[in-house]
Amino acid sequence: MPHRTLPVALAVLLAFALPLAAADKSKTASASVNQPSYDQPQPQVETLDLNMYQRIRLEGLNHSHAMEYASALFDDIGPRLTGSQNLKHANEWTRDQFTAMGCSNAHLEDWGEFGMGWQQLNTWVRMTSPDMAVFIAQAGPWSPATNGAVTGSAVWIDVSDEKDLDKYKGKLAGKIVLYGAMREVPPVEKPLWTRMDDKELKELTEWPLKPRDRGDFLQQYMKRLALRQKIGKFLADEHALAVITPSRDGQNGGGSGGTIFDDSSVGFGWEAYKRESANPLPVVVMAIENYGRVYRLLKANVPVTMEMSVDTKFTGDHEHGFDTIAEIPGTDPKLKDEVVMVGGHLDSWASGTGATDNGAGTVVAMEVMRILNTLQVKPRRTIRVALWTGEEEGEFGSYGYVRQHFGQVPLSTAPDQLKLPEWVRKPGGPVQLKPESQKISGYFNLDNGSGKIRGVYLQENAAMAPIFAQWIEPLKDLGVTTLTLRNTGGTDHEAFDAIGIPGFQFIQDPLDYGSRTHHSNMDVYEELSPGDLAQAAVVEATFVYNTAMRDQMLPRKPLPHPELEEQLKAPLRNLMPGAEAGEGH
Ligand SMILES: [Zn+2]
Repeated sequence: MPHRTLPVALAVLLAFALPLAAADKSKTASASVNQPSYDQPQPQVETLDLNMYQRIRLEGLNHSHAMEYASALFDDIGPRLTGSQNLKHANEWTRDQFTAMGCSNAHLEDWGEFGMGWQQLNTWVRMTSPDMAVFIAQAGPWSPATNGAVTGSAVWIDVSDEKDLDKYKGKLAGKIVLYGAMREVPPVEKPLWTRMDDKELKELTEWPLKPRDRGDFLQQYMKRLALRQKIGKFLADEHALAVITPSRDGQNGGGSGGTIFDDSSVGFGWEAYKRESANPLPVVVMAIENYGRVYRLLKANVPVTMEMSVDTKFTGDHEHGFDTIAEIPGTDPKLKDEVVMVGGHLDSWASGTGATDNGAGTVVAMEVMRILNTLQVKPRRTIRVALWTGEEEGEFGSYGYVRQHFGQVPLSTAPDQLKLPEWVRKPGGPVQLKPESQKISGYFNLDNGSGKIRGVYLQENAAMAPIFAQWIEPLKDLGVTTLTLRNTGGTDHEAFDAIGIPGFQFIQDPLDYGSRTHHSNMDVYEELSPGDLAQAAVVEATFVYNTAMRDQMLPRKPLPHPELEEQLKAPLRNLMPGAEAGEGH
């Protein structure tokens, strides 16, 4: 195989490489052959197979099958809410596609119990008085059904505190309740669909000098959630027929023009998929302009009658979640037990078809495996794809897989933390690693929509910078230019990153992900950008191939120590020489 060394003398590379050289010397002294290769000194110059770069590029750009995978998955199978029959179907279909393209060991892995299976069969909402009007609305996830078509007068409730509920006691039976303040509907003056310009990319490379302060965000959020749960229970106890909520906005006013955002924020609690915290009455989300019409009539004291039907189906209460896994086996006798992983999440919300969130990451991961199978690469390490599920409710599939294979961070058991649901509890540490964690080199994830790849978030792993800087040099003409030491969150690479395994999410062009498609009814096939998906598959396949072929596994950042966090953040003690004993005032 023709290997050619790529000479690289970039300022950016040198800036990263020089401090690393110093660190490497200290490592050499203690390096032993028994150490996993991620702990051994890393080469200053990456050996890149530029012929393979070009073969991957030609196969991925000239013969892309991403849009065919997309149509089969989104048009035929449809939305893939965790716990649903559709997602089970998608798990089985992706497994079979991996086998068909030549992968080995394609199978499903159970990450544990999730909750209720649910499907929306039909939803419609209309106003029958003072005028006839057909509205855009869909059921919130895990909404129960109405008792067929129901008719009632509409009531808007103004509740910002539990006490506010008192004034509605005995007044809501048989009513259709509008819950939620009417919001601004700004003009769409800025483009909904954008790419990152050079300035934005540069800003992303700048390290913030002030640590991000989340303040009491979590407490506020939990408070709002608790109030919502109480409101839901109150409305059900008062025998309201159903609840209509207004759709939130997207970036640049994208939550307009028929777009509704329909996720766990619509119902009466984050864990509405669990029987014990199920939505207590039917709830729908309605287009903001439709909501506005009814809202203005009610505010002006015009009686409004509405008619609606929510038809939904619940399957079991204890559905399990599964990840789709498949491999291209490694061929190097010494390295074939080591793996590089690639993936994205297969699950979605239910009002669209989950094309950009995260159908895009799914079909790109499928394309990566198809390209590498077609080129009949003989990777030294095993290449393993994982399509996660349960991501939207708390990254359950990836965390479950990582826990079963590689290790975990025990959650905090502090008394105030024990009261919280698991998905918001702080990590307690220390990190617990399993032996298999010594066999994984890295994981690559894509989950920011259909936009092409512009670079990589390094997740504070400084040792990766000079390596990726060399890898992206031959990809710059595809728009891959930017490395940032910053973290990004909110998706499945976090499960790996949390225990110190190199796990990366790519920087992508936003397109209309934040404005229009993320969790919306407009998350559909038409929102995909075929050229961008082909580019992403080429870039991701190249990263996966390089990881599978280099002599060492990817270097790791120092093992996280969440158990020391509180102690390290605490103010210095006994600082003031003039201070007297005791507490200050
Ligand atoms: Zn996603």
